[in-house]
Amino acid sequence: MARVLLTGRTGFIGAHILNELLARGHTVVAAVRSQLKGQQLLRRYTPDVAKRISTIIVEDIIKEGAFDQAIQAAPFDVVIHCASPFYYRPNNPEEDMLRPAIRGAVGILESVKKHAPSVKRVIITSSFAAIINFNSHTEKVWNPVTYAQALNPALSYPGSKKLAEEAAWAFMRDEQPSFALTTICPPLVYGPVANHLDSLDNVNTSNSRIRDIILGKFSDAIPPTVLYLWVDVRDVAHAHVQAIDIPEAANERFLVTAGHYDNKVIVEIIREEFPQLKERLPSRDLAGDLPTDVYKFDNSKSANVLGVKYQSLRVSVRDTVATLLEQGNV
Ligand code: NDP
Repeated sequence: MARVLLTGRTGFIGAHILNELLARGHTVVAAVRSQLKGQQLLRRYTPDVAKRISTIIVEDIIKEGAFDQAIQAAPFDVVIHCASPFYYRPNNPEEDMLRPAIRGAVGILESVKKHAPSVKRVIITSSFAAIINFNSHTEKVWNPVTYAQALNPALSYPGSKKLAEEAAWAFMRDEQPSFALTTICPPLVYGPVANHLDSLDNVNTSNSRIRDIILGKFSDAIPPTVLYLWVDVRDVAHAHVQAIDIPEAANERFLVTAGHYDNKVIVEIIREEFPQLKERLPSRDLAGDLPTDVYKFDNSKSANVLGVKYQSLRVSVRDTVATLLEQGNV
């Protein structure tokens, strides 16, 4: 069993990574931004399970040496770095998005190298945004966006993920640390909400489209899909935890996606699974927007090396909506 430092646990994906780590018997220190967030996190577990979780404060991943204290909290075997800002169109692209993403990814590698000789593997949550090039998508492909282009708020998020992952691999090449790196690159992630949610206003970015559909914000039209690849959050978490001890995952990048979809399919699944919401949904007659020549992808490496077996969109959407209805009293 591994001792794991996990960042980003208060977020959508990090919550599922923690659950998967605990289910597999690992012991976890979760880095959180405040005492309150740590308390909210621990409250979700029974005392028996909570024995294997503790929290430590990392106020802001942008700071120099942000992880130095956390990485020395225990003799860790593994670090999973999931924290990074994820929303669209930041006010200040450089300070709000690029620097936390890039400094976070490089900063954690620096701290591990400097202070944690016991760590064998670092796993970073990157993104399909670091790959996307509107062509054929595999682990060999990189989004071409530059730092200067990423200063445009519309490109800041994809830029932040591409530049952060690129900087992490450059660190590995230049510094030759004793640990291995694995990066996990998911496209749009759906699935049940397992993190603390004060209100539906605070639903994470990727689930917010489904939230808006069930709140009736698109009753006249199907919202544009924008990104035609998706994955379930539990498969993303599984991929991260599998990467801990599969030797072939060392120093590899993984595209984790269940495949193509468009919002029309999501609306129809909601109509069938939740008939009580049908008045809020766009008409059955409206068409979807999945292009017939939609870009290609290859997820075989994640299936073959990490053993990911992808959930169906129906299960993912059903479970997403169920938790949103429950948590949000819709
Ligand atoms: P959330 O917004 O739900 O979670 C983001 C997490 O990062 C939170 O724990 C947040 O802490 C933490 N965080 C953000 N900025 C900082 C900072 N400056 N200092 C410390 N912690 C910070 O997003 P997701 O769970 O969806 O995303 C998690 C990761 O997965 C990110 O790296 C994202 O880029 C990546 N990803 C997400 C996809 C998706 O569709 N959801 C797709 C592809 C990649 P706090 O709660 O305190 O704000």
